[in-house]
Amino acid sequence: MSRRKGDQLPVAEPSSTSSLHSDPYASMLSRFHAAAERLGISTDEIQILSRPAEIHIAYLPVAMDDGSIKVFEAYRVIHSRALGPGKGGIRYAPEVNMREVMALAAWMTWKCAVVNIPYGGAKGGITCEPKKMSTGELERLTRAYTRAMSEVFGPDKDIPAPDMGTSAREMAWIVDEYSRLHGGNFIPAVVTGKPLELGGSKGRVEATGRGVTTVILQALQRMGRRPEGLTAAVQGFGNVGSITAKYLSQNGIRVVAISDKTGGYYNEGGILIHQAIQYRDTHSGVLDGFKGGEPITNDQLLTLDVDILVPAALEDQITPHNAANVKAWLIAEGANGPTMAEADSILNEKGVTVIPDILANAGGVIVSYYEWVQNRRGHYYTESEVQERADNTIKQAFDDVFTRAAAQKVSLREAAYLIAVEKAARALRMHGKY
Ligand code: NAD
Repeated sequence: MSRRKGDQLPVAEPSSTSSLHSDPYASMLSRFHAAAERLGISTDEIQILSRPAEIHIAYLPVAMDDGSIKVFEAYRVIHSRALGPGKGGIRYAPEVNMREVMALAAWMTWKCAVVNIPYGGAKGGITCEPKKMSTGELERLTRAYTRAMSEVFGPDKDIPAPDMGTSAREMAWIVDEYSRLHGGNFIPAVVTGKPLELGGSKGRVEATGRGVTTVILQALQRMGRRPEGLTAAVQGFGNVGSITAKYLSQNGIRVVAISDKTGGYYNEGGILIHQAIQYRDTHSGVLDGFKGGEPITNDQLLTLDVDILVPAALEDQITPHNAANVKAWLIAEGANGPTMAEADSILNEKGVTVIPDILANAGGVIVSYYEWVQNRRGHYYTESEVQERADNTIKQAFDDVFTRAAAQKVSLREAAYLIAVEKAARALRMHGKY
Protein backbone atom coordinates (compact mmCIF):
# COMPACT_ATOMS: atom_id res chain seq x y z
CA MET A 1 0.00 0.00 0.00
CA SER A 2 1.33 3.41 -0.82
CA ARG A 3 0.10 6.95 -0.43
CA ARG A 4 -1.57 8.00 -3.69
CA LYS A 5 -1.30 11.63 -4.65
CA GLY A 6 -4.64 13.39 -4.75
CA ASP A 7 -6.40 10.77 -2.64
CA GLN A 8 -9.36 12.03 -0.67
CA LEU A 9 -8.69 12.44 3.01
CA PRO A 10 -10.58 9.79 4.99
CA VAL A 11 -13.92 10.92 6.37
CA ALA A 12 -12.61 10.32 9.86
CA GLU A 13 -10.29 13.36 9.62
CA PRO A 14 -10.85 15.55 12.70
CA SER A 15 -12.93 18.66 12.23
CA SER A 16 -10.97 21.89 11.95
CA THR A 17 -13.65 23.67 13.99
CA SER A 18 -12.98 21.62 17.07
CA SER A 19 -14.84 23.02 20.04
CA LEU A 20 -14.55 22.32 23.74
CA HIS A 21 -17.32 19.78 23.49
CA SER A 22 -15.93 16.62 25.07
CA ASP A 23 -15.18 14.17 22.26
CA PRO A 24 -12.36 11.81 23.20
CA TYR A 25 -12.49 10.23 19.75
CA ALA A 26 -11.63 13.60 18.20
CA SER A 27 -8.69 13.94 20.61
CA MET A 28 -7.49 10.45 19.71
CA LEU A 29 -7.86 11.14 15.97
CA SER A 30 -5.99 14.41 16.00
CA ARG A 31 -2.96 12.76 17.62
CA PHE A 32 -3.26 9.76 15.28
CA HIS A 33 -3.39 11.96 12.18
CA ALA A 34 -0.39 14.02 13.32
CA ALA A 35 1.64 10.81 13.75
CA ALA A 36 0.36 9.31 10.48
CA GLU A 37 1.35 12.43 8.58
CA ARG A 38 4.82 12.60 10.10
CA LEU A 39 5.37 8.90 9.36
CA GLY A 40 4.01 9.25 5.83
CA ILE A 41 1.87 6.11 6.14
CA SER A 42 -0.44 5.41 3.24
CA THR A 43 -3.97 6.73 2.83
CA ASP A 44 -5.16 3.12 2.83
CA GLU A 45 -3.62 2.54 6.25
CA ILE A 46 -4.98 5.84 7.53
CA GLN A 47 -8.47 4.89 6.39
CA ILE A 48 -8.30 1.59 8.23
CA LEU A 49 -6.68 2.78 11.45
CA SER A 50 -8.78 5.93 11.85
CA ARG A 51 -11.95 3.84 12.19
CA PRO A 52 -12.92 0.95 14.41
CA ALA A 53 -12.85 -2.45 12.74
CA GLU A 54 -16.13 -3.50 14.39
CA ILE A 55 -18.81 -1.91 16.56
CA HIS A 56 -21.25 -4.16 18.41
CA ILE A 57 -24.28 -2.62 20.12
CA ALA A 58 -26.80 -4.53 22.20
CA TYR A 59 -29.88 -3.48 24.12
CA LEU A 60 -29.98 -5.67 27.19
CA PRO A 61 -33.27 -6.25 29.03
CA VAL A 62 -32.52 -6.91 32.70
CA ALA A 63 -34.96 -7.92 35.44
CA MET A 64 -34.57 -5.39 38.25
CA ASP A 65 -35.12 -6.23 41.93
CA ASP A 66 -38.46 -4.35 42.01
CA GLY A 67 -39.85 -6.65 39.30
CA SER A 68 -39.55 -4.11 36.46
CA ILE A 69 -37.50 -4.63 33.29
CA LYS A 70 -34.86 -2.09 32.40
CA VAL A 71 -33.13 -2.02 29.02
CA PHE A 72 -29.43 -1.08 29.03
CA GLU A 73 -27.41 0.09 26.03
CA ALA A 74 -24.14 -1.84 25.73
CA TYR A 75 -21.17 -1.62 23.38
CA ARG A 76 -18.11 -3.55 22.39
CA VAL A 77 -15.80 -1.88 19.92
CA ILE A 78 -12.85 -3.63 18.28
CA HIS A 79 -10.56 -0.93 16.97
CA SER A 80 -7.92 -3.19 15.43
CA ARG A 81 -6.75 -6.78 15.38
CA ALA A 82 -3.71 -5.96 13.24
CA LEU A 83 -1.31 -6.77 16.09
CA GLY A 84 -3.32 -9.51 17.83
CA PRO A 85 -6.70 -10.26 19.40
CA GLY A 86 -8.80 -7.35 20.65
CA LYS A 87 -7.92 -6.36 24.22
CA GLY A 88 -9.52 -3.82 26.50
CA GLY A 89 -11.64 -3.18 29.55
CA ILE A 90 -15.37 -2.86 30.11
CA ARG A 91 -16.67 0.38 31.59
CA TYR A 92 -19.88 0.70 33.60
CA ALA A 93 -20.80 4.38 34.02
CA PRO A 94 -23.73 6.71 33.34
CA GLU A 95 -21.70 8.77 30.83
CA VAL A 96 -20.68 5.79 28.65
CA ASN A 97 -21.38 6.47 24.97
CA MET A 98 -20.21 5.05 21.68
CA ARG A 99 -17.70 7.80 20.76
CA GLU A 100 -16.06 7.34 24.14
CA VAL A 101 -15.83 3.57 23.72
CA MET A 102 -14.47 4.04 20.18
CA ALA A 103 -11.70 6.28 21.55
CA LEU A 104 -10.91 3.91 24.40
CA ALA A 105 -10.67 0.99 21.94
CA ALA A 106 -8.23 2.87 19.70
CA TRP A 107 -6.10 3.88 22.69
CA MET A 108 -5.80 0.18 23.53
CA THR A 109 -4.34 -0.50 20.05
CA TRP A 110 -1.74 2.23 20.52
CA LYS A 111 -1.02 1.21 24.13
CA CYS A 112 -0.40 -2.47 23.37
CA ALA A 113 1.82 -1.44 20.46
CA VAL A 114 3.88 1.00 22.58
CA VAL A 115 4.56 -1.57 25.31
CA ASN A 116 5.16 -4.40 22.85
CA ILE A 117 2.48 -6.87 23.82
CA PRO A 118 0.83 -8.96 21.11
CA TYR A 119 -2.69 -7.57 21.23
CA GLY A 120 -4.89 -5.29 19.21
CA GLY A 121 -7.29 -2.79 20.75
CA ALA A 122 -10.88 -3.08 21.97
CA LYS A 123 -13.14 -1.65 24.65
CA GLY A 124 -16.61 -2.24 26.03
CA GLY A 125 -19.07 -0.16 27.94
CA ILE A 126 -22.57 -0.21 29.37
CA THR A 127 -24.49 2.97 30.13
CA CYS A 128 -25.60 2.31 33.71
CA GLU A 129 -25.14 3.52 37.28
CA PRO A 130 -23.39 0.61 38.99
CA LYS A 131 -23.34 2.31 42.41
CA LYS A 132 -27.16 2.44 42.34
CA MET A 133 -27.62 -1.19 41.32
CA SER A 134 -27.76 -4.25 43.56
CA THR A 135 -25.27 -7.10 43.23
CA GLY A 136 -28.00 -9.27 41.69
CA GLU A 137 -28.90 -6.62 39.10
CA LEU A 138 -25.23 -6.16 38.18
CA GLU A 139 -24.76 -9.91 37.84
CA ARG A 140 -27.79 -10.24 35.56
CA LEU A 141 -26.59 -7.26 33.50
CA THR A 142 -23.06 -8.69 33.16
CA ARG A 143 -24.35 -12.13 32.16
CA ALA A 144 -26.73 -10.57 29.59
CA TYR A 145 -23.80 -8.59 28.15
CA THR A 146 -21.67 -11.76 27.95
CA ARG A 147 -24.49 -13.62 26.14
CA ALA A 148 -24.88 -10.74 23.68
CA MET A 149 -21.11 -10.67 23.02
CA SER A 150 -20.50 -14.43 23.22
CA GLU A 151 -19.34 -14.61 19.60
CA VAL A 152 -17.35 -11.37 19.87
CA PHE A 153 -15.29 -12.38 22.92
CA GLY A 154 -12.79 -15.23 22.74
CA PRO A 155 -9.28 -16.00 24.01
CA ASP A 156 -7.88 -15.52 20.48
CA LYS A 157 -10.45 -12.97 19.35
CA ASP A 158 -11.25 -10.36 21.98
CA ILE A 159 -10.30 -10.44 25.65
CA PRO A 160 -12.10 -8.04 28.03
CA ALA A 161 -10.83 -6.78 31.41
CA PRO A 162 -12.03 -4.40 34.14
CA ASP A 163 -12.25 -0.63 33.68
CA MET A 164 -14.16 2.11 35.52
CA GLY A 165 -17.07 0.64 37.44
CA THR A 166 -16.05 -2.99 36.97
CA SER A 167 -13.66 -5.24 38.87
CA ALA A 168 -12.63 -8.86 39.36
CA ARG A 169 -16.21 -9.66 40.43
CA GLU A 170 -17.68 -8.83 37.00
CA MET A 171 -14.81 -10.69 35.28
CA ALA A 172 -15.71 -13.80 37.31
CA TRP A 173 -19.33 -13.61 36.07
CA ILE A 174 -18.11 -13.19 32.49
CA VAL A 175 -15.80 -16.21 32.61
CA ASP A 176 -18.57 -18.29 34.18
CA GLU A 177 -21.22 -17.27 31.64
CA TYR A 178 -18.85 -17.53 28.67
CA SER A 179 -17.69 -21.00 29.75
CA ARG A 180 -21.32 -22.18 30.06
CA LEU A 181 -22.09 -20.84 26.59
CA HIS A 182 -19.10 -22.63 25.06
CA GLY A 183 -19.70 -26.23 26.03
CA GLY A 184 -18.98 -25.97 29.74
CA ASN A 185 -15.17 -26.11 29.50
CA PHE A 186 -13.57 -23.63 31.87
CA ILE A 187 -12.14 -20.90 29.61
CA PRO A 188 -10.36 -18.43 31.91
CA ALA A 189 -8.27 -16.87 29.12
CA VAL A 190 -11.38 -15.16 27.68
CA VAL A 191 -11.04 -12.36 30.22
CA THR A 192 -8.31 -10.90 32.44
CA GLY A 193 -8.44 -9.14 35.79
CA LYS A 194 -10.19 -12.20 37.28
CA PRO A 195 -10.13 -13.15 40.97
CA LEU A 196 -7.06 -15.25 41.83
CA GLU A 197 -9.29 -18.28 42.54
CA LEU A 198 -10.58 -18.25 38.94
CA GLY A 199 -7.19 -17.94 37.25
CA GLY A 200 -6.36 -14.31 37.96
CA SER A 201 -2.77 -13.16 38.16
CA LYS A 202 -0.96 -12.05 41.25
CA GLY A 203 -0.15 -8.36 40.97
CA ARG A 204 -3.00 -7.50 38.55
CA VAL A 205 -4.96 -5.27 40.95
CA GLU A 206 -1.92 -3.07 41.66
CA ALA A 207 -0.50 -3.27 38.13
CA THR A 208 -1.74 -0.01 36.66
CA GLY A 209 -0.88 2.19 39.66
CA ARG A 210 2.47 0.49 39.98
CA GLY A 211 3.17 1.15 36.30
CA VAL A 212 2.19 4.83 36.64
CA THR A 213 4.64 5.15 39.53
CA THR A 214 7.39 3.30 37.66
CA VAL A 215 7.22 5.68 34.67
CA ILE A 216 7.15 8.71 36.99
CA LEU A 217 10.33 7.46 38.68
CA GLN A 218 11.92 6.78 35.27
CA ALA A 219 11.06 10.29 34.11
CA LEU A 220 12.48 11.83 37.29
CA GLN A 221 15.68 9.86 36.86
CA ARG A 222 16.02 11.11 33.26
CA MET A 223 15.48 14.66 34.53
CA GLY A 224 18.09 14.23 37.26
CA ARG A 225 15.51 14.71 40.03
CA ARG A 226 15.06 12.65 43.17
CA PRO A 227 11.51 11.72 44.23
CA GLU A 228 12.00 12.52 47.92
CA GLY A 229 10.35 15.77 48.90
CA LEU A 230 8.42 16.27 45.67
CA THR A 231 4.66 16.86 45.89
CA ALA A 232 1.84 15.29 43.90
CA ALA A 233 -1.89 15.66 43.33
CA VAL A 234 -3.95 12.67 42.20
CA GLN A 235 -7.39 13.02 40.63
CA GLY A 236 -9.59 9.90 40.96
CA PHE A 237 -9.35 7.51 43.90
CA GLY A 238 -10.39 4.21 42.35
CA ASN A 239 -8.11 1.39 41.30
CA VAL A 240 -5.60 3.55 39.41
CA GLY A 241 -5.64 6.73 41.52
CA SER A 242 -5.52 5.17 44.97
CA ILE A 243 -2.81 2.64 44.12
CA THR A 244 -0.70 5.26 42.35
CA ALA A 245 -1.07 7.52 45.41
CA LYS A 246 0.00 4.64 47.66
CA TYR A 247 3.11 3.82 45.61
CA LEU A 248 4.06 7.49 45.18
CA SER A 249 4.00 8.05 48.93
CA GLN A 250 5.97 4.83 49.47
CA ASN A 251 8.63 6.35 47.21
CA GLY A 252 8.94 9.51 49.27
CA ILE A 253 6.63 11.71 47.17
CA ARG A 254 4.22 13.75 49.31
CA VAL A 255 0.69 13.30 47.94
CA VAL A 256 -0.91 16.56 49.06
CA ALA A 257 -4.25 16.21 47.24
CA ILE A 258 -6.63 13.46 46.22
CA SER A 259 -10.16 13.46 44.84
CA ASP A 260 -12.99 11.40 43.51
CA LYS A 261 -16.33 12.21 41.94
CA THR A 262 -17.63 13.50 45.30
CA GLY A 263 -14.85 16.14 45.62
CA GLY A 264 -11.23 16.57 46.67
CA TYR A 265 -9.04 17.01 49.75
CA TYR A 266 -5.84 19.00 50.27
CA ASN A 267 -3.30 18.56 53.05
CA GLU A 268 0.01 20.40 52.76
CA GLY A 269 1.72 17.92 55.06
CA GLY A 270 0.60 15.00 52.89
CA ILE A 271 -2.57 12.91 52.85
CA LEU A 272 -2.25 9.62 54.74
CA ILE A 273 -3.08 7.39 51.80
CA HIS A 274 -3.73 4.19 53.76
CA GLN A 275 -6.21 6.16 55.87
CA ALA A 276 -7.96 7.51 52.77
CA ILE A 277 -8.17 4.02 51.26
CA GLN A 278 -9.62 2.66 54.49
CA TYR A 279 -12.13 5.54 54.62
CA ARG A 280 -13.23 4.92 51.02
CA ASP A 281 -13.57 1.17 51.60
CA THR A 282 -15.85 1.71 54.58
CA HIS A 283 -17.91 4.55 53.02
CA SER A 284 -19.55 3.02 49.92
CA GLY A 285 -16.41 3.40 47.83
CA VAL A 286 -16.24 7.21 48.00
CA LEU A 287 -14.20 9.84 49.89
CA ASP A 288 -17.22 12.01 50.72
CA GLY A 289 -16.75 13.33 54.29
CA PHE A 290 -13.05 12.34 54.54
CA LYS A 291 -11.38 14.35 57.33
CA GLY A 292 -7.73 13.95 56.27
CA GLY A 293 -7.56 17.26 54.37
CA GLU A 294 -9.31 20.52 53.53
CA PRO A 295 -12.10 20.10 50.98
CA ILE A 296 -11.24 21.32 47.46
CA THR A 297 -12.91 20.88 44.08
CA ASN A 298 -11.64 18.69 41.27
CA ASP A 299 -10.94 21.84 39.24
CA GLN A 300 -8.79 23.27 42.05
CA LEU A 301 -6.87 20.00 42.33
CA LEU A 302 -5.80 20.15 38.67
CA THR A 303 -4.15 23.57 39.07
CA LEU A 304 -2.55 23.12 42.50
CA ASP A 305 1.04 24.21 42.99
CA VAL A 306 2.54 20.71 42.98
CA ASP A 307 5.42 19.05 41.15
CA ILE A 308 3.51 16.07 39.78
CA LEU A 309 -0.10 15.78 38.63
CA VAL A 310 -1.76 12.40 38.06
CA PRO A 311 -5.20 12.63 36.44
CA ALA A 312 -6.62 9.14 37.10
CA ALA A 313 -10.38 9.55 36.66
CA LEU A 314 -12.01 10.58 33.40
CA GLU A 315 -11.29 11.89 29.91
CA ASP A 316 -10.98 15.57 29.00
CA GLN A 317 -10.04 16.98 32.41
CA ILE A 318 -7.13 19.16 31.23
CA THR A 319 -8.63 21.50 28.65
CA PRO A 320 -7.52 24.61 26.74
CA HIS A 321 -9.30 26.55 29.53
CA ASN A 322 -7.30 25.23 32.48
CA ALA A 323 -4.03 24.01 30.85
CA ALA A 324 -2.33 27.40 31.20
CA ASN A 325 -3.04 27.30 34.95
CA VAL A 326 -1.54 23.85 35.52
CA LYS A 327 1.49 24.33 37.79
CA ALA A 328 2.83 20.79 37.87
CA TRP A 329 5.90 20.27 35.67
CA LEU A 330 5.30 16.54 35.31
CA ILE A 331 1.96 14.96 34.41
CA ALA A 332 1.47 11.20 34.32
CA GLU A 333 -1.82 10.24 32.71
CA GLY A 334 -3.26 7.45 34.85
CA ALA A 335 -6.64 7.84 33.14
CA ASN A 336 -7.23 7.29 29.46
CA GLY A 337 -7.51 10.56 27.55
CA PRO A 338 -7.48 13.01 30.49
CA THR A 339 -5.92 15.77 28.33
CA MET A 340 -7.83 17.23 25.39
CA ALA A 341 -5.78 17.38 22.21
CA GLU A 342 -6.25 21.17 22.13
CA ALA A 343 -4.44 21.43 25.47
CA ASP A 344 -1.29 19.61 24.27
CA SER A 345 0.40 22.64 22.72
CA ILE A 346 -0.33 24.81 25.80
CA LEU A 347 1.36 22.25 28.07
CA ASN A 348 4.25 21.80 25.63
CA GLU A 349 4.85 25.56 25.46
CA LYS A 350 4.88 25.74 29.25
CA GLY A 351 7.53 23.04 29.28
CA VAL A 352 5.35 20.53 31.13
CA THR A 353 6.48 16.94 30.58
CA VAL A 354 3.45 14.73 29.96
CA ILE A 355 3.82 10.95 30.19
CA PRO A 356 0.94 9.99 27.91
CA ASP A 357 -1.84 7.59 28.84
CA ILE A 358 -0.86 5.02 26.21
CA LEU A 359 2.44 4.60 28.07
CA ALA A 360 1.72 5.71 31.65
CA ASN A 361 -1.26 3.46 32.40
CA ALA A 362 -0.11 0.42 30.41
CA GLY A 363 0.90 -1.53 33.54
CA GLY A 364 -2.60 -3.02 33.74
CA VAL A 365 -2.67 -4.44 30.25
CA ILE A 366 0.89 -5.71 30.61
CA VAL A 367 -0.09 -7.82 33.62
CA SER A 368 -3.35 -8.77 31.87
CA TYR A 369 -1.16 -10.24 29.14
CA TYR A 370 0.76 -12.26 31.74
CA GLU A 371 -2.54 -13.45 33.18
CA TRP A 372 -3.63 -14.68 29.73
CA VAL A 373 -0.25 -16.40 29.21
CA GLN A 374 -0.53 -18.09 32.62
CA ASN A 375 -4.08 -19.28 31.87
CA ARG A 376 -2.99 -20.78 28.58
CA ARG A 377 0.11 -22.46 30.02
CA GLY A 378 -1.64 -23.59 33.19
CA HIS A 379 1.43 -22.37 35.08
CA TYR A 380 1.31 -19.48 37.52
CA TYR A 381 3.96 -16.90 38.44
CA THR A 382 4.75 -15.55 41.88
CA GLU A 383 3.92 -11.92 42.62
CA SER A 384 7.56 -10.88 42.42
CA GLU A 385 7.97 -12.64 39.04
CA VAL A 386 4.96 -10.73 37.70
CA GLN A 387 6.18 -7.42 39.12
CA GLU A 388 9.71 -7.83 37.83
CA ARG A 389 8.53 -8.66 34.31
CA ALA A 390 5.99 -5.82 34.30
CA ASP A 391 8.48 -3.28 35.67
CA ASN A 392 11.03 -4.22 33.01
CA THR A 393 8.47 -4.09 30.21
CA ILE A 394 7.16 -0.65 31.08
CA LYS A 395 10.68 0.70 31.73
CA GLN A 396 11.76 -0.54 28.28
CA ALA A 397 8.72 1.12 26.71
CA PHE A 398 9.48 4.37 28.57
CA ASP A 399 13.08 4.28 27.28
CA ASP A 400 11.89 3.61 23.70
CA VAL A 401 9.50 6.57 23.87
CA PHE A 402 12.03 8.84 25.55
CA THR A 403 14.71 8.00 23.00
CA ARG A 404 12.34 8.54 20.07
CA ALA A 405 11.19 11.87 21.53
CA ALA A 406 14.78 13.05 21.88
CA ALA A 407 15.76 11.85 18.40
CA GLN A 408 12.82 13.51 16.67
CA LYS A 409 12.56 16.50 19.04
CA VAL A 410 8.91 15.81 19.82
CA SER A 411 6.91 15.39 23.02
CA LEU A 412 6.64 12.01 24.76
CA ARG A 413 3.03 11.78 23.54
CA GLU A 414 4.00 12.41 19.93
CA ALA A 415 6.83 9.89 20.22
CA ALA A 416 4.52 7.24 21.71
CA TYR A 417 2.03 7.73 18.86
CA LEU A 418 4.84 7.55 16.29
CA ILE A 419 5.99 4.21 17.69
CA ALA A 420 2.46 2.80 17.93
CA VAL A 421 1.06 3.97 14.60
CA GLU A 422 4.21 2.91 12.76
CA LYS A 423 3.96 -0.57 14.25
CA ALA A 424 0.24 -1.00 13.53
CA ALA A 425 0.66 0.25 9.95
CA ARG A 426 3.59 -2.13 9.42
CA ALA A 427 1.49 -5.03 10.69
CA LEU A 428 -1.36 -4.07 8.34
CA ARG A 429 1.05 -4.14 5.42
CA MET A 430 2.21 -7.62 6.43
CA HIS A 431 -1.38 -8.88 6.60
CA GLY A 432 -1.60 -8.00 2.89
CA LYS A 433 -4.32 -6.62 0.66
CA TYR A 434 -7.91 -6.72 1.78
P1 NAD B 1 -12.45 3.13 39.17
O1 NAD B 1 -13.88 2.93 38.85
O2 NAD B 1 -11.77 2.16 40.05
O3 NAD B 1 -12.24 4.60 39.79
C1 NAD B 1 -12.62 5.76 39.13
C2 NAD B 1 -12.40 6.92 40.07
O4 NAD B 1 -12.65 8.14 39.38
C3 NAD B 1 -13.32 6.91 41.28
O5 NAD B 1 -12.62 7.36 42.42
C4 NAD B 1 -14.39 7.90 40.89
O6 NAD B 1 -15.07 8.48 42.00
C5 NAD B 1 -13.55 8.93 40.17
N1 NAD B 1 -14.34 9.80 39.31
C6 NAD B 1 -15.38 9.48 38.51
N2 NAD B 1 -15.88 10.59 37.95
C7 NAD B 1 -15.13 11.64 38.41
C8 NAD B 1 -15.15 13.04 38.20
N3 NAD B 1 -16.05 13.59 37.41
N4 NAD B 1 -14.22 13.79 38.84
C9 NAD B 1 -13.30 13.22 39.64
N5 NAD B 1 -13.24 11.91 39.89
C10 NAD B 1 -14.13 11.13 39.28
O7 NAD B 1 -11.71 3.24 37.75
P2 NAD B 1 -10.18 2.97 37.42
O8 NAD B 1 -10.04 1.56 37.00
O9 NAD B 1 -9.32 3.53 38.49
O10 NAD B 1 -10.02 3.84 36.09
C11 NAD B 1 -9.71 5.23 36.13
C12 NAD B 1 -9.13 5.63 34.79
O11 NAD B 1 -7.96 4.84 34.52
C13 NAD B 1 -10.04 5.41 33.59
O12 NAD B 1 -9.75 6.39 32.62
C14 NAD B 1 -9.61 4.05 33.08
O13 NAD B 1 -9.92 3.87 31.71
C15 NAD B 1 -8.11 4.17 33.28
N6 NAD B 1 -7.39 2.90 33.32
C16 NAD B 1 -7.71 1.92 34.21
C17 NAD B 1 -6.96 0.75 34.24
C18 NAD B 1 -7.20 -0.34 35.24
O14 NAD B 1 -6.43 -1.30 35.26
N7 NAD B 1 -8.19 -0.25 36.10
C19 NAD B 1 -5.91 0.57 33.32
C20 NAD B 1 -5.62 1.60 32.44
C21 NAD B 1 -6.36 2.75 32.45
